[in-house]
Amino acid sequence: MNLIDTAMKSLMQQGELTLETDRRHLMHPGTHAADHASGQLDARLMSRAKGIRIEDHAGRSYIDAFAGLYCVNIGYGREDMADAIAEQTRQLSFYHTYAGFSNDPAVELSRRLIEDWAPPGMKKVFYGMSGSDANETQVKLAWYYNNVLGRPRKKKIIARQRSYHGSGIATGSLTGQPKFHAGFDLPMPQVLHTASPDFYRDARRGASEAEFVADCVEDLEQLIAREGADTIAAFFGEPVMGSGGIVPPPAGYWPAIQAVLARHDILFVADEVVCGFGRLGSRTGSEHYGLKPDLMSLAKGLTSGYLPLSAVMVSECVWDVIERGSRAHGAMSHGWTYSGHPVCAAAALANLDIIEREQLVGRAAEVGAYLQACLHDAFDAHPLVGNVRGVGMLAALELMADGGERRPFPAAVKASQRVAQAALARGLIVRALGTHDIVGFAPPLVATRADVDEIVAITRDALHDVSDALLASLAEDRSAVTEESQETAPLNR
Ligand SMILES: *Cc1c(COP(=O)(O)O)cnc(C)c1O
Repeated sequence: MNLIDTAMKSLMQQGELTLETDRRHLMHPGTHAADHASGQLDARLMSRAKGIRIEDHAGRSYIDAFAGLYCVNIGYGREDMADAIAEQTRQLSFYHTYAGFSNDPAVELSRRLIEDWAPPGMKKVFYGMSGSDANETQVKLAWYYNNVLGRPRKKKIIARQRSYHGSGIATGSLTGQPKFHAGFDLPMPQVLHTASPDFYRDARRGASEAEFVADCVEDLEQLIAREGADTIAAFFGEPVMGSGGIVPPPAGYWPAIQAVLARHDILFVADEVVCGFGRLGSRTGSEHYGLKPDLMSLAKGLTSGYLPLSAVMVSECVWDVIERGSRAHGAMSHGWTYSGHPVCAAAALANLDIIEREQLVGRAAEVGAYLQACLHDAFDAHPLVGNVRGVGMLAALELMADGGERRPFPAAVKASQRVAQAALARGLIVRALGTHDIVGFAPPLVATRADVDEIVAITRDALHDVSDALLASLAEDRSAVTEESQETAPLNR
């Protein structure tokens, strides 16, 4: 064995030891506790990353086609970011922003977010550390707003089935996926769910997009009528649904939904945690779809994941009420120790510098269009792919046991997880998403056309690797299911 091999081997052994300690002491998010502890889960220690590539402890390199968790928009390991963070740490590592204290990076970031990035009508920015805490703040603002206006009954919050708005108590309730509720006594009673905008999955047989939009509007109208508009404070929506399966809205959906909300005096909270900062090829999802939110949540791409930071944007109309509230009720006692953290704000500023200098929003539009076209070319006619969809640098394949007939795989087959595993074995990170078999892509916005070619080619090979096994387990599963089972029935369209 030569020296390099020996060094490599000891690194791997070191990594295995670390993973052993990990299994003993680290509690992971969204992870099967017993499988992790027993070592049954395929665990990996990520050790370094640069650009769109990330390496694990064993020296295996992967293209990260999911940008971490749709956040590393500028790519990994950028010197400018390291410098900005180090410099601000030396200058002012922390001071709080309660009661009028402030700091340069937080002020400058607020100015740039309002003047250069937000849709018209936004006035103020409140900072937190995560998308979840931003949305928790939104719920409290919506409640506070109606208390100031003397409408103490107007408190319920509507979100959509399959949406993702975080993992807190209020935000986990908003999240429209049963697995985030089960075992946690959620959702809270004030939270209601309306139809998801998934045309492919949820439209009636033969319905046009316009008819499906009318059905979504009708579902929302009926929910509001049932509960009473005077009991509903706010509606949360991701411009393009992310973790629920990367679901772009059908044409005409947002104008129709916004009209309903306006008519019933319901605040519209745009959850831009995924869509913000170029992901769709526009500055925000609101800009992309011409939305006029009353409140906006930003996180992930705000710092490209270099440090934790979230922002709640408050429109002029909502701000007026909050300001009035302070005259009547005094200071609003809401905030976090790290609201407006100077080092996180400095990271966000350096991130915006890079996005603006390298014109990553325009580049995401251009390379994103290429990504969508390549995915359509490669998978539209694939027998195991029912739907190819996306916007900009956000895309998904929905797997089907029979793409033509729209026959889903039974959940037990874990089709999308197996495709993601096969891609991983080939050095590509994609993500199995949502409640159906969806394979998601959200590459860093610095990815090139050549990178896109590689991502699509590896995905095609990965799907090929598991096709036979998927169809075989489908046959097994079919012999196991009873006559009544609806699980493998074609969708009703
Ligand atoms: C990730 C995400 C959140 C939650 O953000 P965290 O930083 O994980 O708390 C909220 N909304 C959307 C749309 C997200 O994708």
